[in-house]
Amino acid sequence: MFSDDDLLSISGLQHLMFCERQWSLIHMEQEWSDNVLTVEGRQIHEYVHEPGSGSRSGVVMLRSLSLRSSELGLYGVADMVEFHRCDDGAEIVGHSGRWMPYPVEYKRGGKRCGRPDEVQVCAQALCLEEMFGLHIAFGAVYYDKPRRRVDVEISEALRKELKALCARARQLYDFADRPTPNIGKHCKNCSLVGECMPDVIAKDRSAAYMSGILRDISASLEY
Ligand code: SF4
Repeated sequence: MFSDDDLLSISGLQHLMFCERQWSLIHMEQEWSDNVLTVEGRQIHEYVHEPGSGSRSGVVMLRSLSLRSSELGLYGVADMVEFHRCDDGAEIVGHSGRWMPYPVEYKRGGKRCGRPDEVQVCAQALCLEEMFGLHIAFGAVYYDKPRRRVDVEISEALRKELKALCARARQLYDFADRPTPNIGKHCKNCSLVGECMPDVIAKDRSAAYMSGILRDISASLEY
């Protein structure tokens, strides 16, 4: 069981999957810079993060629900949790019957490479499982371009992937140094390129590499 001081942010998992150095800058060194992608992403979340609730036939919807798992050491806020009427579900305040939570994560743009959105939904589902004492089989991601909802199966493989990521984040907390830059095309979309300075570090590294070669050559000439 993890204490409050050791909880990892669910929203940080996508940073970790994007680049470990970016994750460490944001979550260990509290650096943050906006770019157009982060501003657009925040706008969609500002809408869904206005606390509130609603309902339609057989579904109760809660926006901005606080989540937490002491077992996994995670915390966060769900954009939206739908509660679907279900005999295997849990009781919820103000509504008769039993209800199965179904987390829905809202994302700007379309589906991204890898599974960062699915992992985030899985983390929300596992928090809800612990909070309500249930097994949750599905959640969803809602993409705004084009507008569509994609079901996410909370499979064993996804659960394992999430747990491995949490373990990696805790390992990085234990390292004293920032992870080295993972330079690639994705740096163009990184809002922290100014703080990370990947080009400068790459140049330093090639200078260090060249001076190592020159040192070896001059040492061999001395014999
Ligand atoms: S600039 Fe590139 S290497 Fe640096 S934090 Fe961003 S994604 Fe990672």
